[in-house]
Amino acid sequence: MNEVHPIIIPSRHHLATLLVSHYHEAVKHQGRHLTEGAIRTAGFWLVGAKRCISSFLHRCVICRRLRGKMEHQQMAALPAERLQVAPPFTYVGVDVFGPWEIVSRRTRGGGSPPKLTLIDGL
Ligand SMILES: [Zn+2]
Repeated sequence: MNEVHPIIIPSRHHLATLLVSHYHEAVKHQGRHLTEGAIRTAGFWLVGAKRCISSFLHRCVICRRLRGKMEHQQMAALPAERLQVAPPFTYVGVDVFGPWEIVSRRTRGGGSPPKLTLIDGL
């Protein structure tokens, strides 16, 4: 009977957002069609339901995480030395490391970002 005479709700109303949220979780974050079907089965008719539910699903964190594509680490190309077969320690690289001397200054316009200087002689 509810489906025959549903309660008409405009999609911009806050109640529509609450209904979409509730029934979207009730159908376990499935797609727009199942969410829309659950809302209509419960006896509600959202005017402009397609757009309302789609925009809600677009903002749903769980759906975005479940349907997101795999991200890949962006790396620079390896230097030519690393692509050649060579005995160990033929080519050695050293990362720059500390100890660092940090100079923090106060200026009239507020603070300035701290300045890092590598201490020589260590
Ligand atoms: Zn979701």
